[in-house]
Amino acid sequence: MTEALHSQLSDVEVALNRPLLITDADEVLFAFMRGFERHLANNGAYFNWASFRLNGNIIARDSDDPLEIPQVRGLLRSYFEEHTQTMDVVEHAPEMLQHLSRRLQVVVLSNVPHAQRADRAAALHNNGMPFPIISNEGSKADAVETLAARTAAPVFFIDDSPNHHDEVKRVADHVVRIHYISDPRLSTLLGPADASHYRARDWLDIRAFIEDHLDQAGQTDGA
Ligand SMILES: [Mg+2]
Repeated sequence: MTEALHSQLSDVEVALNRPLLITDADEVLFAFMRGFERHLANNGAYFNWASFRLNGNIIARDSDDPLEIPQVRGLLRSYFEEHTQTMDVVEHAPEMLQHLSRRLQVVVLSNVPHAQRADRAAALHNNGMPFPIISNEGSKADAVETLAARTAAPVFFIDDSPNHHDEVKRVADHVVRIHYISDPRLSTLLGPADASHYRARDWLDIRAFIEDHLDQAGQTDGA
């Protein structure tokens, strides 16, 4: 585990007897692709919606050729630098999280670059989601395993990427894994993640699923 991750995890308080929701941000709380499309348009490129991945699907407008991986990385970097604070919020995410936070604690686990962690924290605050934010790189397994080990109550994980579901399942199979992709165009490109327990349609659906699970687990408000 990197020092950057370790110190952030140490700063997050997790109550032993309170359920925990660990949620991704891009394409779960923030409309990543909607903003990224605008950013690509401003930089002479477009996304061709051929599959659920960035590499190979970002096309130069003048040549209609896919951009090389370093160019894709550069556009992602500038997107986060310029737009992390102003990305659109996914519909109903703030209200549903506020509602759920009566019954559980919320931690945002995002692969936003460390340099933009403060921008993401500001965006969460400004949009009614003032929850702790951890900036992570690569696999989320270490962070989820560490956080989940601090509570005896149910733990939920939400992410749009099937890879993260696979990796979390491997180290913390008891964590209830919800697969959610907010962008409808992206969502149609990908079925439910194999390693997830539930594929959610929207935040109303996520809230209902989590509340049902807590009811069945005998977790009452404020437990
Ligand atoms: Mg994401």
